[in-house]
Amino acid sequence: GKTLRLILGDQLNSTHSWFKKVDEDVVYVMMEVMQEQEYVMHHVQKILAFFAAMRNFAHQLTKKGHEVIYLNLDDKHNTQTIEGNIKRIITEEKIERFEYLLPDEYRLDEQLKQICNKLKIETSSTDTEHFFTTRHEVKEFFGDKNFLMENFYRSMRVKHQVLMQGSKPLGNKWNFDHENRKKYDGKLPLVPAIEFNHDVSALKEMIDAKKVKYFGEVDEKHFPWPLSRKEAIKLIDYFCEHLLPHFGTYEDAMLQQHISLFHSRISFAQNSKMIAPHEIIGKVLAHYDKNKHEITLAQVEGYTRQILGWREFMRGVYWAKMPEFATLNFFDHRGELPEWFWTGKTKMNCLSKCIGQSLNNAWAHHIQRLMVIGNFALLAGLNPDEVDAWYLGIYIDAIEWVEITNTRGMSQFADGGIIASKPYVSSAAYINKMSDYCGSCYYDYKKKTGDKACPYNSLYWDFFYRNADKLEGNHRIGMMYNILKKMNRDEINEINKQAGIYLDAINEL
Ligand code: FAD
Ligand code: SF4
Repeated sequence: GKTLRLILGDQLNSTHSWFKKVDEDVVYVMMEVMQEQEYVMHHVQKILAFFAAMRNFAHQLTKKGHEVIYLNLDDKHNTQTIEGNIKRIITEEKIERFEYLLPDEYRLDEQLKQICNKLKIETSSTDTEHFFTTRHEVKEFFGDKNFLMENFYRSMRVKHQVLMQGSKPLGNKWNFDHENRKKYDGKLPLVPAIEFNHDVSALKEMIDAKKVKYFGEVDEKHFPWPLSRKEAIKLIDYFCEHLLPHFGTYEDAMLQQHISLFHSRISFAQNSKMIAPHEIIGKVLAHYDKNKHEITLAQVEGYTRQILGWREFMRGVYWAKMPEFATLNFFDHRGELPEWFWTGKTKMNCLSKCIGQSLNNAWAHHIQRLMVIGNFALLAGLNPDEVDAWYLGIYIDAIEWVEITNTRGMSQFADGGIIASKPYVSSAAYINKMSDYCGSCYYDYKKKTGDKACPYNSLYWDFFYRNADKLEGNHRIGMMYNILKKMNRDEINEINKQAGIYLDAINEL
């Protein structure tokens, strides 16, 4: 009998064992469905990137001799739901068995289990063969203990023998953070980001004709993102050659004229599974081995930590804590997103640049997401549901397992400290130190209160003041409360008043 195998849009792993040989009894199905356009409003580049990469993938499978049913969004047989399409194909093709790859998103995992319960044929699911870890490995690793990224990361280094010398870390140190994370000094020449220049205008026409709701900008004749495995490999080779030598040093730096500095921009290619984390790390390590005279261990360790550490860790926390995780709101924050989150039109230069760039490119680097946008959202007490929906929509790499853990957890501390041991907040001093935003800003980064005082400053102290009951006991931030206690009453009153004025007029900031 015939088997139907479902491939979701973020499961484009052409090295998967499913595709090792052509089997005449197997039909693959891939689909563009409204269901996936409507659970959140997406950035237009995100929709186009996924559809274009899916179409390429289906084309490659067909070329290798596999039978593939591909449903375009405007196909007249398309029922626009995964369930509807699967049921129709099972009947029409006389399918006797249904198989799927384990989804990374809780919502889809539940949905596929339900679909299978209803089907009258045999069903099964199998791993995507993408990650280093299984869904529950992080949970099993920690058991009842607190989740600590660093401990998990070290165990991964040992288990997979990455940057190890026997049982010891290469260079005798696990962590090179203090050598990394510098401000960009303007001396080192910047290298342009690699762009792929695709024409996706036909796809764009189709989503417009289907009235898909989206936001953000796109140059559909010069679409820059990698859309195939071949391009993903090209991107990572370019990264190794040109960007890796300075990745760690400047990984936290922000610059107006060059949005990505030395970041790899591999997240879309990786999260859609066109390239696997072990392949990326393999390439980085091989390049390091050949070029030790020009690349320091600190750069390579810094990059490896993001992929072998943070990425796998976030996925593990997701599966350990969902679905409850999506409801957590530790500070009970209820603020609405300011209108300028959708336009970038604010006088705060850092936010205007970071949000504007996200609207233009569907991408921002980690520190822009964490210490500019997320920092503001947390200080201003915005509702984590709205913050999550914004992050899930806007970034080209945003899939819930890695978006929600980063946003609700790491950035908004709405999980009360499952992921981060203290809230990632800062005043203007940090933004000024790491970027060139403050120099040309309407606001004065040095002022806490008064005319043109930078909003981050009063909101920062007001945040700690407001949340003393929840945070004072945290030994990692005790210092903040010592400073607060030493401030005089008038100063605190002024700060609270200033913060109140700014929050009341948040749309005009
Ligand atoms: P690089 O800086 O070159 O890093 C290489 C790779 O390391 C990334 O591609 C990514 O796979 C991995 N990585 C780095 N940091 C993290 C992290 N914190 N968690 C998981 N993986 C990491 N990343 C997503 O892939 N999808 C998201 O939806 C997402 N949302 C985020 C939301 C917030 C509030 C924050 C603070 C971070 C978020 N990140 C997310 C993590 C990180 O910002 C992006 O992975 C990164 O900016 C992608 O660009 P890059 O490929 O150039 O990364
Ligand atoms: Fe951002 Fe404040 Fe600096 Fe302006 S002064 S760029 S608002 S941190």
